[in-house]
Amino acid sequence: MALSSDRLDRFARHIVLPEVGGAGQAALAKATVVLIGLGGIGSPALQYLAGAGVGMLVMVDDDVVDATNLQRQTIFCEGDVGRSKTELAELWVRAFDAQLNVRRVSQRVTRDNAAAIVAGADLVLDGCDNFATRLAVSDACVAVEVPLLSAAVGRFQGQVGAFAGHLPDQPCYRCYVGDAFDADDCDTCAEQGMLGAMAGWTGTFAAMQAIRVLLADSGGMGEPQWGKLHVLDGLAPGMRTMRIAKDPQCRGCGTTVA
Ligand SMILES: [Zn+2]
Repeated sequence: MALSSDRLDRFARHIVLPEVGGAGQAALAKATVVLIGLGGIGSPALQYLAGAGVGMLVMVDDDVVDATNLQRQTIFCEGDVGRSKTELAELWVRAFDAQLNVRRVSQRVTRDNAAAIVAGADLVLDGCDNFATRLAVSDACVAVEVPLLSAAVGRFQGQVGAFAGHLPDQPCYRCYVGDAFDADDCDTCAEQGMLGAMAGWTGTFAAMQAIRVLLADSGGMGEPQWGKLHVLDGLAPGMRTMRIAKDPQCRGCGTTVA
């Protein structure tokens, strides 16, 4: 796919990077990314994925903006309180870059609808706020063979991991967290507190890892880092990296259980 001259202008700073180039920019333009959650991670991630020229952004959130969201959810303003996050996100993307395509899913993700929402995507970026949704998304990604970038933040720690559990040797998100969190009772942001910039660092790094995955076929920024979990420490500050092993007994991606 050849980029038009206005797109070549818009993405000139990407295209001069050997890691992106014209081929990488074209790959981003034809990519579809599903964003689960338009919160403290999803908002900055959306901004940088849109900024990167990702051609199709599917935005999934069933919530409305609350005043307590504004310290970290960067696409929303005071006047947005009470309005649908996906509607506002669509308006933001259209104002930012009218050539991008968007699709809104204003539903809560469940085990019943997750596969339909993520099917056909090149990548899912999950920045939602509870384990039940994360596990439903992970299991759906394995089932329909879509890679998953999972990003989470609590207090001053962020986590960003890339998963391709549909591949025989690669773990899924459930291999990492196990089965203990299927109950929908782990939304702790309100009780624990959260620095907005910490969510922003995590969301921005998630966008960067998403771009790494989308560029992997063109050589780009290196291999997609399946099974690697990066832990961001906002107080040190610093980052360390863990490798997640595939669990053969995993209910999501394992091969030894039915
Ligand atoms: Zn697994």
